[in-house]
Amino acid sequence: MKYRYAEMTWPECKAAVKADRLAVLPVATYEDHGYHLPIDVDVVLASEICERAVARIPDEAVLIPAVTHGYSPHHMDFPGTITIRWDTFINYVKDVCLSLAHHGFTRILIVNGHGSNSAPLEMASRLTVVETEGRVLCASVNHWGVRKLREEGKKIRTSDYGGTSHAGEYETSLYLALRPSLTQMEKAVDERTPLPPSFQNDLLAGKRSDASVANLMPHWSTMTTSGVRGDATKATLEKGELFLEAAIEGLIELVREFKAMELPPRQDHR
Ligand SMILES: [Zn+2]
Repeated sequence: MKYRYAEMTWPECKAAVKADRLAVLPVATYEDHGYHLPIDVDVVLASEICERAVARIPDEAVLIPAVTHGYSPHHMDFPGTITIRWDTFINYVKDVCLSLAHHGFTRILIVNGHGSNSAPLEMASRLTVVETEGRVLCASVNHWGVRKLREEGKKIRTSDYGGTSHAGEYETSLYLALRPSLTQMEKAVDERTPLPPSFQNDLLAGKRSDASVANLMPHWSTMTTSGVRGDATKATLEKGELFLEAAIEGLIELVREFKAMELPPRQDHR
């Protein structure tokens, strides 16, 4: 059974909607990932996790072609970065979702591979719900945010807090598993954020439990010389395969949770 939207004919796209399959949309960006990784890390990770997850449940979901360009203005001091203005990005992703809604999809899950896309993607998904008057439910998730990975990640990682941030142990291990010949481990570094605890973040662990939960995003070049924020030296291909499997299983679990969800109709209380 076909699961890639791009490979379907229009009658097959129509049949996918009729079969009530959920649309999975990977979104990422191109930006620096240290001396050891190419700029396409976020694109490869989000796309591959979605591809493998949807391939396992083709009768339940459809893989929409990825939105590969995202929101990375704070990375522009590093060559390679391509950024889309925040409002253009939100409107672009929203238009993709509204197109899917127009053709009859009622559940859309945006799967994000780049931290700074999170806030604009939450807005794009909420606007999709609002602008379809609630006929379509659109949600967003970071691939490191799925339950199974959050649980398994604690056992797989060997770095301390902050080690699985940008281009660190998590992303590097995954890239090693997916594109080993493009990963230059001899150039991997361990570089940490200079920000105080309340502004720190770790992809797998989230915000610190012993500090305030606050947000600040200075320009990337003020926080790291290599582009890495985390411990890339702890990455291995074996850990990458374990992270990958947990992310795939976690995403499938979330797709099913989202599909099974039922809400009562809106009520106008005016
Ligand atoms: Zn990344």
